[in-house]
Amino acid sequence: VTDWGYFADLPLLTDEPLAKYTAARIGGPAERLIVIRSTTADLVDVMRRAWAHDAPVRVIGGGANVLVSDAGVPGLVVVNHVAGFTVHNQTGTLDVANVIVSAGTTLTVLVRRLATLGIDFAWAASVPGTIGGAVVNNAGAHGGDMASDLISAHVVTPGGEAIYPVDYLGYSYRTSRLKARSDRRFLVTEAVLRLRRDSPEAISARIEANIAQRKRTQPPGASLGSIFKNPPGDYAGRLIESCGLKGFAIGGAMISPLHANFFINAGSATAADYAALIAHARAVVAERTGILLETEIEMIGAF
Ligand SMILES: Cc1cc2nc3c(=O)[nH]c(=O)nc-3n(C[C@H](O)[C@H](O)[C@H](O)COP(=O)(O)OP(=O)(O)OC[C@H]3O[C@@H](n4cnc5c(N)ncnc54)[C@H](O)[C@@H]3O)c2cc1C
Repeated sequence: VTDWGYFADLPLLTDEPLAKYTAARIGGPAERLIVIRSTTADLVDVMRRAWAHDAPVRVIGGGANVLVSDAGVPGLVVVNHVAGFTVHNQTGTLDVANVIVSAGTTLTVLVRRLATLGIDFAWAASVPGTIGGAVVNNAGAHGGDMASDLISAHVVTPGGEAIYPVDYLGYSYRTSRLKARSDRRFLVTEAVLRLRRDSPEAISARIEANIAQRKRTQPPGASLGSIFKNPPGDYAGRLIESCGLKGFAIGGAMISPLHANFFINAGSATAADYAALIAHARAVVAERTGILLETEIEMIGAF
């Protein structure tokens, strides 16, 4: 049992529904929850206290890549909204800029702000969530990904603080050395990106083209984005569709008729509905094609 007295001076919420903090609008209560908007120092302070007192703790950003169980999450959930960025090499003649971004910065906001400065991060224009989640997951879209743009990430652990160069993060498709860590005892505080410069008009045009392509190919509304990773040489969506599963639903969770790797929350979906639909799609695809799909999303809490 956690002694929350160590956090008495902080505005921890009790039994706070995580559905409010996830893109799919799903998830039971966090035993304790705090939203940090102020500073990285405050964020690090909360994490260090939790680690020091062995309180279970999990940091999330936009909650866009997590399926939280209906039973919720024991311990403390820290929602990181510490946002901001600084640009280096901005006024030189170099054709690249280094951008230092706080981990709680929303990708879609960052993309637009950088575009006005003539810095191209357009691939991320329609990826929900924060830089922290993107660093962990090696987020990518429209031919770009974090592995290509990241120079390094600042990471705090119970043992101290370090700068992880991109090579150390061991990136491959939608995964990293961090995502693979089962202890979760790390906090990404900042990322250093190296991005190309271009005219704001050209970047805006790419942003709009990327968003338009999304709208054509992916369903609107609450979802978790791609549920499964694409297996080598194929697409999870194509495989699920080939099994006739488009539109198949369990409870309030439905395989999108538009894109079969998107599972839509029709409004009343529970995490159990999602988990059952994921298990069903995986089993049917495995039986019919011999391919065992691997989830891209992370499941948090008890399933
Ligand atoms: C509609 C939709 C479309 C999507 N499209 C794409 C896409 O095109 N490409 C793509 O790559 N992804 C896509 N996703 C998935 C998601 O947007 C990305 O994975 C994103 O990077 C998640 O960021 P987040 O802040 O929401 O992470 P969260 O879901 O909050 O967290 C994800 C993981 O990162 C950890 N984490 C988050 N922040 C930190 C931090 N500061 N320090 C340590 N650990 C941290 C969490 O503990 C968790 O393990 C989509 C999702 C949705 C809902």
